[in-house]
Amino acid sequence: MAPRVRFAPSPTGYFHVGSARTSLFNWLFARQSGGVFILRIEDTDVERNRDEWREGIITALAWLGLDYDEGPYRQSEMIGDHRAAADALFRAGYLYACDCTREAIDERTATRATPGYDGYCRDRGLARSATTALRFRVPDEGVTVVHDLIRGDVTFPHESYEDFVVVKSNGVVLYPLANAVDDRTMAITHVIRGEDLLPTTPKQVMLWEALNRCTDEPVALPLYAHLPMLVNEQRKKLSKRKDPVAVESYRDQGYLPEAFVNYLALLGWSPREGEEIISRAAMIEQFRLEDVAHSPAFFDVKKLTHMNGEYLRRLSAGEFVARATPWVAPWNSAWRPSDRSPLWREDQFDATLFARVAPLVQERVATLGEVPGLVDFFFLDEVVVDEVALAGVAGDALARDLLDAARERLATLEWTAAALHEAIAALGEARGLALRRAQAPIRLAVTGRLIGPPLFESLEIVGRERVLARLDRIQELVAR
Ligand code: GLU
Repeated sequence: MAPRVRFAPSPTGYFHVGSARTSLFNWLFARQSGGVFILRIEDTDVERNRDEWREGIITALAWLGLDYDEGPYRQSEMIGDHRAAADALFRAGYLYACDCTREAIDERTATRATPGYDGYCRDRGLARSATTALRFRVPDEGVTVVHDLIRGDVTFPHESYEDFVVVKSNGVVLYPLANAVDDRTMAITHVIRGEDLLPTTPKQVMLWEALNRCTDEPVALPLYAHLPMLVNEQRKKLSKRKDPVAVESYRDQGYLPEAFVNYLALLGWSPREGEEIISRAAMIEQFRLEDVAHSPAFFDVKKLTHMNGEYLRRLSAGEFVARATPWVAPWNSAWRPSDRSPLWREDQFDATLFARVAPLVQERVATLGEVPGLVDFFFLDEVVVDEVALAGVAGDALARDLLDAARERLATLEWTAAALHEAIAALGEARGLALRRAQAPIRLAVTGRLIGPPLFESLEIVGRERVLARLDRIQELVAR
């Protein structure tokens, strides 16, 4: 049978980079093996779920280009199956009713060496009622072995598991059973998910085996593959609060989905042929679950950003313009990044001009979100001049003198990048200034900043009239 895998996120927050990596590895495995990739949204925790998070998962997967063959299923629609499974397990004695309160358990176990539930209700034979939870009777002895394609066989002694709650007293079926039942219903063959879930896997295996003993049609256990944890620079587990983990924010900052996916693929896996920048087709071909590492993977934003810059430089000029449009001309785009409107208005923007200047910035940006800040001076009527740099020029007699001379020289010069280059170099030389220093005050006047796209090409495009007006304005600002 062709493999069937599922990505089973809980919609309880922004789409996390760890979830993106899990979905990618499931997708790669399915695409490589001719299998089926299923999206199942585990939305049974009503207090923590939100519709917007569910939508977020769907849009993030679409952005990443990870298409699913079945779903999105919603776990909440399968609650009837979860309850039926719990009933069967209860009837067969694998689950028992328990009416202990947390306080009573804590009191009884305060002085015990082993933490957790003490099995008080195991043999009381309580009937189910509105005040009883259902617990799984974990065998006292023995072990459960999880066969993991990445980690090998991992053995869990039963003595380290308490009789865990499967159904709460309010009737809610908890994750270990709901998840296992759905995997059975969907005939999942491989469970590929984060390492953080490994400790609950033995519970699922025990439940699965118990369910098999309650039916004439046992279902084979899936194979497991627990993916290595993602860690930050301090080698600590990525923190939802402290680390930049929301996939949405990478999209909004202008990371390309293909670069993002390429980077995610390297979190715990490396291409067999060594080259890290790798096409999706090659990824599908080379990916092997068996090659996934055990050790934690460092989620390195710097490396991701570097890789994104690399992908941006590889785009054709036309493609770069198209991809930058949501940031520079959101009104022309079906999708726009949130909270990132350019400083200019629609009537100030000139698409033809942008297409001309785009190659000047394509080489210089690592994300599309940086583009507006490098081209704003082409569109704004008045540039916002950096205060610190302005103070520097104001206090530099040579720079001020150069600005005066440039104002005069540029008024009559032939208006080409080459002529501008030559003239400004000459003005600098006459004052003993290297070209870079000669450019600085002019760049500040025209662009508002000391760094930006190549100056002479930029001046040519901005045009004589606007350049002269900005030179006049900086002289006023400097004189203040
Ligand atoms: N819904 C679970 C979670 O998001 C994951 C379930 C799984 O992949 O088995 O943590």
